[in-house]
Order: sequence, then structure tokens, then C-alpha cells
Amino acid sequence: MATVSETAALFHCADAVCFDVDSTVICEEGIDELAKFCGVGDAVTEMTRKAMSGSVSFKMALSERLSIIKCSREQVNKMIMDHPPQLTPGIKELVEKLHQRSVKVFLISGGFRCIVENVASQLGIPLQHVYANRLKFYFNGEYAGFDDSQPTAESGGKGKVIRMLKERYGFETVVMIGDGVTDLEACPPASAFIGFGGNVVRQQVKDKSSWYVMSFAELLKELEKK
Ligand SMILES: [Mg+2]
Repeated sequence: MATVSETAALFHCADAVCFDVDSTVICEEGIDELAKFCGVGDAVTEMTRKAMSGSVSFKMALSERLSIIKCSREQVNKMIMDHPPQLTPGIKELVEKLHQRSVKVFLISGGFRCIVENVASQLGIPLQHVYANRLKFYFNGEYAGFDDSQPTAESGGKGKVIRMLKERYGFETVVMIGDGVTDLEACPPASAFIGFGGNVVRQQVKDKSSWYVMSFAELLKELEKK
């Protein structure tokens, strides 16, 4: 495993930094918030728990939870209006600092594009730098499933996105930051991984992270060293 200083050095010279969204850039899990808003919070939380303990594929777990939530376009829009995603303290300053240094910032999420786009707008991240799942709706706005062709709908999807970014933009050093196992698993192809425990600490991720931080202020402080 890389050392903290090796990981910090890669963070300093990164061309691109990719952030997970749920429980990393925002304080909560988007799908749980959507379920709560649609009145099926308990059922979905229970399934999330089962999905995490069992051997259900990411796509299957997503599909099953969405088939309970069955949110309409109107419900999703209303949730974003009434309960916009809550940014984790320090993320705005960190993204600003990265942008000042001409580092490209991406959001890679197993959550939903409609919610993640709101997060991107709050952070000044271009919408073409958002990789997330797409909900589908019928003409009348009723839930019609999700686009299962997106790489983020699959287990291992975040790694696929990073590999694609390296090819498309020619990035040499890409750093992934997140709270979850799927974020950790995106390295490689990511050059380095930084574990984030500011919202929830997942022991497995903490144990396997060469650099684990509890706040974005720690990362900002690191960038301000030079
Ligand atoms: Mg997460």
C-alpha cells in the first residue's frame, strides 16, 4: 500500500480529481432521501442494508429499490426544490481551490443524475463532468425505470469511468476520493485513492486507504502547503 506522503504527492500533482457524491460531497445518501420523500424510507433502508450484507449486484440492488420508490418526475423535482442536497462542510472551498489550480473536477456517482447535477451546479462543476445514473420517466412523468447502460449502473462502474476519462482527456494522474468500497475499487485505474470519513466511517475502506481523512479541510490544508 502507498504511504500517506506518496498519496499526498499524487494529490498535489493530479490532473483530475474525481469525487464520489453520496456521503462524500453531500452529507446523505440520495436514494435514501428520495425514498423518504416518497414515503417508503423504511422499506428502502432495509433493502440497502440487505444489499450491503448479501451478494446482490449493484444493478440488481438499484433496480429493486427503485421499483419500491417508483418516483415520478414531479416528485424528484419537488424533492430537489424542497430538500436540496446538503453539501459536506469544506467541499465548496476545496473544489474552488482545485479549479484555481486548473485541476479538472469530476463527480462520479452511483446515484441519480438529476440530483447530482444540482450538486454540480452548487459547486461550479460543469455538467459534462458529471457521471451518474439516469432515471427514466414516461410521457406523463411516471417512473419508467433507469438507464442500465450507464457504466455507473454496474459494479466496478466507477473504475470504468476513470479509465475512460484518462483515455478521453489524456490525464496522467487521477485521484479518486470517496467513502465507499466502490470508490476504493476504482484505484486502479485511479492513480491514488483518498478515503473520506467526514460523514460516515466504513471500517473496510478506512483499513485499506493509504490516506484517510475526516474532513475536506485536511485536503485543503495539504494543497496550501506549496
Ligand atoms: Mg458514497
